[in-house]
Parts: sequence; structure tokens; C-alpha cells
Amino acid sequence: MLETKVCIIGAGPGGATAALQLAQLGIECVVVDKAVFPRDKVCGDGLSGKVITALENIDPGIARRLQQYTEKLDSWGVTFVSPGRESMEVAYKPHYNKLVDEPAGFVCKRIHFDNFLVDELKRRPDMIRLFEGIAIDKYELQDDGYLVSDAGGAFTVKAQLLIVANGAHSSFTKEVANIRMEPAYYAAGVRAYYKNVKGTHADNFIELHFLKPLLPGYLWIFPLPNGEANVGMDMISEAVRSKKVNLKKLLTETLQNDPVFKERFRDAEITSSIEGYGLPLGSKKRTLSGPRYMLVGDAAYLVDPFTGEGIGNALYAGRIAAQQASAALEANDFSASFLAAYDDGVYRVLGPELQLSHRLQKLVKYPWLFNLLMKMGTRNKQLKELISCMFYEVDLRKKLAQPSFYIKLLFNK
Ligand SMILES: Cc1cc2nc3c(=O)[nH]c(=O)nc-3n(C[C@H](O)[C@H](O)[C@H](O)COP(=O)(O)OP(=O)(O)OC[C@H]3O[C@@H](n4cnc5c(N)ncnc54)[C@H](O)[C@@H]3O)c2cc1C
Repeated sequence: MLETKVCIIGAGPGGATAALQLAQLGIECVVVDKAVFPRDKVCGDGLSGKVITALENIDPGIARRLQQYTEKLDSWGVTFVSPGRESMEVAYKPHYNKLVDEPAGFVCKRIHFDNFLVDELKRRPDMIRLFEGIAIDKYELQDDGYLVSDAGGAFTVKAQLLIVANGAHSSFTKEVANIRMEPAYYAAGVRAYYKNVKGTHADNFIELHFLKPLLPGYLWIFPLPNGEANVGMDMISEAVRSKKVNLKKLLTETLQNDPVFKERFRDAEITSSIEGYGLPLGSKKRTLSGPRYMLVGDAAYLVDPFTGEGIGNALYAGRIAAQQASAALEANDFSASFLAAYDDGVYRVLGPELQLSHRLQKLVKYPWLFNLLMKMGTRNKQLKELISCMFYEVDLRKKLAQPSFYIKLLFNK
């Protein structure tokens, strides 16, 4: 039996970040993942500026190595396309200069990005003991810690504290933390890789196409290195169920039959199967910790309900969990009430953004409003710059969720 202060279940972005932050704080841990890396994860592969910021806060060396990582593609903005096919290009940073500025976003296949993080774990064997290819299936809360093991009981870890970062299908989240999947606050997504998609942006803007049948979800095209692209769509699970949508079929049919995509995908070649996975949305507050445990990333339902971004949030939560673990070890207090400070920390940092995104997600259900906003955005330089700044300033994002914003827009055209 292994003994450790902190056991992290899952070495995806959330778990890996928690381990790296713990190592930086001088706290040893055991990390267990059921996969052997490099491993794939169904995702859009879009990484926002939050990823670099979180890594920089742990160790600027990690952020620098990611900036230099050649498997990713720098992206300088987003193209939004409304249900009425109005499109608006929004740079992440107004008036960016590619020669001087650092790109605010990247696209990187998860098979590479997650392996980059796992390689960072392997750089710290003094602090991090990583076990791959072992699924943790059993959890037993004892007086002095958690005893966790694989199904057969051959691999056992005793830890004072658990950080649970085993993704959207976490059985711990369901069975121990008692957080249930609610179709109104959950999305389903599918993605495939393509080569030779025509018409992608010269500065690798990611594309979000808010097609009417998917609202408030969208179809995305995210350019990747070597002329590849990650193409997928997501939709609220409630709508998938009620409309009996087969998302894989819908993606194929849309790319084949839609007049715009038909043209752009004429010479494209699919280079993977179409795979699907769940997105646990942070549309409402949940209890993220309990006696001797904290949930991180998708296991904590922290995906942004508007953008579908979950990686940056998993990194932020991973850091906060590591800091709270440090406080718990220091105080020798692993009670639910002590660890509740973790929930406060997560929702203090991510809560306002998640709430806002939930409101925006509700707004974009209305195609007419969306079309109107896009129409104005294409003609109104100020609005475009405002939306561009929105990626930097959460306070500006708040404006977008207020009805007064639209009223002012209507009369100040
Ligand atoms: C279709 C789709 C598109 C998306 N697009 C984007 C995007 O473009 N940008 C973005 O930021 N986010 C996106 N997301 C969300 C993003 O993928 C997740 O938010 C992110 O992966 C969360 O990281 P995590 O570390 O919490 O979980 P994961 O990345 O799921 O990692 C969990 C890890 O736990 C391991 N594990 C699972 N069970 C066990 C077990 N029993 N024992 C041990 N280990 C276990 C797994 O092997 C895995 O390595 C998308 C999601 C989907 C489904």
C-alpha cells in the first residue's frame, strides 16, 4: 500500500495542474490515471489565455515551455457566425501585432497538450509519483484518510486528502459528492479531425457557427498545425434528448449539405472517427468538496456554459485545490467545513464568469437577438472592439448580459 499526503485521481489538465502547484508548494503527492499517456480526449482543443496565465502563476518556466511547444497553433481571434449567417471577426486583442504581441489563444490537440502537462509531472519525480494505466474504482473514507484502490484491490493508496479530477464521467462526483447530471445544465459534444478545410482565417481565428438547430450550442472549426482542423458541434443535452438528435449524423450531414460548409469541405478529408463526450456545465453552484476531498475540473462541473471552455477552468480549480490542500495539511483539518473554503475560492474566481456565461447562453437561444447583435457588430467598430476587449475584461462581458446594453446599441447605431 502506498501512503501519501495527497492523492490526485486523474492526470488531465485539472489533476496535473493540482500536482504541479502542490510540487511548487513543497507538498508530495501521488497521481493516478487510468490511461497511459499520450492519450486522446474528445475536445475542441481550444486553449484560452487562461491556460498560460494559470501555468505562469505556478511556474513561469512551464508557461515558457508551453509558449515554445511546437505542436500548438497560435490563434489571434474568433469569428462568430450568427444563425442568419452574419459573421463577425473579433481579435482577442484589438490592433494586435503578431511580431510583438504574445498570442492570447492556441489550438492544440489534447493528445499533445495533456502529454505536455504529464511530461511536466515527470520533471518533478522528487515530489510527484505518477501511476498510469490504473483506474481507481473504490473509495473508502476512514478516520485518518481515504483508502482508494483499483477494482481488484491490487493497487491501493492511503491519502490524508483526495483531489478528484477524473473528468466528466466521474463516479466519485455522482456517488460520493452526490452531484447528478441534469440535462438542462449539461451539453453533449462531438468532434472529428479534418485536413484541407477551405476558407480558414489567415491568423488562425477559431470559428463558432451558431446554427439555428444547435442554439445555444454551435458548430466549431478550430485550425490546427499542418493544415488540420478540429471540427465539431455541441448542444444542450435536454435538447438532444427532446429532439432525439444524433449529433454525429447531424455533423456529417451539415458538412455535406449546408451550402457554405459543402463548399468549404469539398476537398476536405476526415482523418479520425467522429467521437462524442459530455460537457458538465457550471451553470449553477454546486458543493465541490466534502470530508477529505475536493473536486476539480469536469468532475466539479466547471465548463463555461457559453463558450464550452473547460480546460482553463480546470487549471484554475486545480491550483486553488492545491492551495487549499496546503492549508488543510498545515491546520491538520480535513473536515468538510474547512475544505468549504475551496468552494468559496473557486466560485470567487470563476463564479461571476460562469453566471454571466449562463445568462449569455440563455440570450443566444433567441436567433433574432443574435442576428441583430451580429449585424450591428459588423457595422459598428466600437461594438467590435468592445467584444474584443471582452476576452480580456470580464467586467466588459457583464455589459453583454444586461438588457440596457442592447437598448443603448439600438439607439446609438
Ligand atoms: C466535444 C467537446 C469539446 C470541448 N472543447 C473544448 C475547448 O475547445 N476548449 C476547452 O477549454 N474545453 C473544451 N471542452 C471541455 C474540456 O475538454 C474539459 O473541460 C477538460 O478536459 C477538463 O479537464 P479535466 O482535467 O477536468 O478532465 P479530463 O480532461 O477529462 O481528464 C480526466 C482524467 O481522468 C482520468 N480518469 C478517468 N476516470 C479515472 C479513474 N477511475 N481512475 C483514474 N483516472 C481516471 C482520465 O483518463 C483523464 O486523463 C470540450 C469538451 C467536449 C466534450
